[in-house]
Amino acid sequence: MSGHHHDHDHAHEHDHDHDNHYSDMQARVKALETLLTEKGLIDPAAIDAIVETYETKVGPRNGARVVANAWADPAFAAWLKRDATAAIASLGYTGRQGEHMRAVFNTPDTHNLVVCTLCSCYPWSVLGLPPVWYKAPAYRSRAVIDPRGVLSEFGVTLPSTTKIRVWDSTAELRYLVIPLRPDGTEGWGEDALSDLVTRDAMIGTGLALSPETLR
Ligand code: FE
Repeated sequence: MSGHHHDHDHAHEHDHDHDNHYSDMQARVKALETLLTEKGLIDPAAIDAIVETYETKVGPRNGARVVANAWADPAFAAWLKRDATAAIASLGYTGRQGEHMRAVFNTPDTHNLVVCTLCSCYPWSVLGLPPVWYKAPAYRSRAVIDPRGVLSEFGVTLPSTTKIRVWDSTAELRYLVIPLRPDGTEGWGEDALSDLVTRDAMIGTGLALSPETLR
């Protein structure tokens, strides 16, 4: 598997404190949700809808702005390539202390795919909440073993000559995929460009939308 960046020593430097923290928080949230539902104060379906909105719309908008800036401004793209943490912070999107970002740019020859093989490390500051499938053991193992198969299940078929690089996230280093800018977007402003950038495109399980899909 050429271009495969999975690091098998990664377990030794992986910090899992954050996951214990989130498990505890999730348990508290679940308890609260149950209590409020039993008292007839909330509808669980409404909560699911809100979470879905944060997963797919609100959270990833930050990342979409980063990508749109990179597409529209070569100087910003160069900065993002050199020091993603600083370039992203300049737009006001900062993560928890110790979280470093790396932007991986898709090219016509290479497609990038992000996973956390050990748990669910995810670039919260730019993508918001991770989708359920990102945390699922099936994705975490198969993204490494069979990235092309995983991509096809997401509806992404790449030429057989395109290399796929898999990046394994850690608590210390999170990845943001910069998808290829779609054809037919010459002269577009950042607002319009950012509408083409989906959450999955920034994980690498999708591609940026083509302009036609917005019409
Ligand atoms: Fe993790």
